[in-house]
Amino acid sequence: MNNNTISSHLFEKAKISIPGGVNSPVRAFKSVGGHPIFIESAKGAYLFDVDGNQYIDYIASWGPMILGHAHPEIVSAIQQQVNYSTSYGAPTQLEIEMAELIKSMVPNIDLIRMVSSGTEACMSALRLARGYTGRNKFIKFEGCYHGHADSFLVKAGSGLATLDIQSVPGITAGVSMDTLTCAYNDIKAVQNLVNQHKNQIAAIIIEPVAGNMGCILPEKNFLTELRILCTNENIVLIFDEVMTGFRLAKGGAQELLNIEADLVTFGKIIGGGLPVGAFGGKQSIMSHIAPLGKVYQAGTLSGNPIAMRAGYTLLSLLNSGNHYESLEKKSAYLHEGLNSVFLDHKMPFVINRIGSMISVHFSDGPINNFDHAASANNDFFNAFFHQMLKRGIYLPPSAFESWFLNDALIYQDLDNTIKAADQSLAALKQ
Ligand SMILES: *Cc1c(COP(=O)(O)O)cnc(C)c1O
Repeated sequence: MNNNTISSHLFEKAKISIPGGVNSPVRAFKSVGGHPIFIESAKGAYLFDVDGNQYIDYIASWGPMILGHAHPEIVSAIQQQVNYSTSYGAPTQLEIEMAELIKSMVPNIDLIRMVSSGTEACMSALRLARGYTGRNKFIKFEGCYHGHADSFLVKAGSGLATLDIQSVPGITAGVSMDTLTCAYNDIKAVQNLVNQHKNQIAAIIIEPVAGNMGCILPEKNFLTELRILCTNENIVLIFDEVMTGFRLAKGGAQELLNIEADLVTFGKIIGGGLPVGAFGGKQSIMSHIAPLGKVYQAGTLSGNPIAMRAGYTLLSLLNSGNHYESLEKKSAYLHEGLNSVFLDHKMPFVINRIGSMISVHFSDGPINNFDHAASANNDFFNAFFHQMLKRGIYLPPSAFESWFLNDALIYQDLDNTIKAADQSLAALKQ
């Protein structure tokens, strides 16, 4: 059992100068209770905190650390690049290499623009879809998160659900009026919205596999039918692959599920742990972005050389290795192990998994949309989270988050995780 004296002291100190003690809300442990763990360093599959505790990491910085922390090739690539200065505000050859590498891995991308976060990528893709179609409204799905740009903060998944924020002060009615929402996996509801707002909908944006309400898989034909609907109605289909991109496959969900979007957004893995996002797609749409077209989008640090070097190195490793097979095997092993532990304890539970994204919900019915995820026994999840943390397993601090496996995990780590789950459930029964 861990001692957390220094972490708890640092949290008190952090709260004096930083809102809520954190620079991003989900880190605050608000829904699971208690105080966050302050990290000192990380290597491979492990996090080390300021109190000297070690954890097996199932957050992986929310995705980017897919090959583990402080990967030697990425560290050394960054170190080399730093010698040439950290930013120029002028183009580099590295940006071309990055764009070409992404195009070689991801289907269906003619042009790609680099930005500095997933938020920027989604915000810019939506602006582009609006500029391209001349329409204002768009559809998003309840429980999907597309970053914190104004238009998206309506029924926006994990961070808000965790903090129980229903509507966000600071977002004008005018903005939210153009955001239409419906339940994930409900194609009829989408069709109804499209019919009600004929020729007014610029885009449908979706996480092709949702990771911000736990891990929720698209039901059979849901995405195919969305694709057909968008084509028929001249609506731009945007796949938000900030989480799924380079995680589910080299080409993300587009490749794995064999469906092509019109625009795709990236973040997380694409930066190799540095702040990077990107959006790209078909020439006919992307050519409307400035300076080619009139839809304005810019960034002082966009295509930053250090970030490009880190991202390029990680993507190259993913492109040349057999990490996706290895991750699938490890994730399936964990999935089976957890499954038998939960069965043993006769807990009502659902495990959703695709590739190296997995989530556990304490529910007796299937979890296919946000309402399902919200009506699970999330108090029990919170207790489970703390039991796991005490045993050195660092899960995302919310029932509304997907867990992310990294390929530095060894089978011993997975066995330890399964054993910890068994002990945690036993402890919670008493
Ligand atoms: C994390 C995330 C974003 C936002 O990315 P940031 O880099 O945090 O701005 C957008 N969409 C999805 C699906 C995400 O998971």
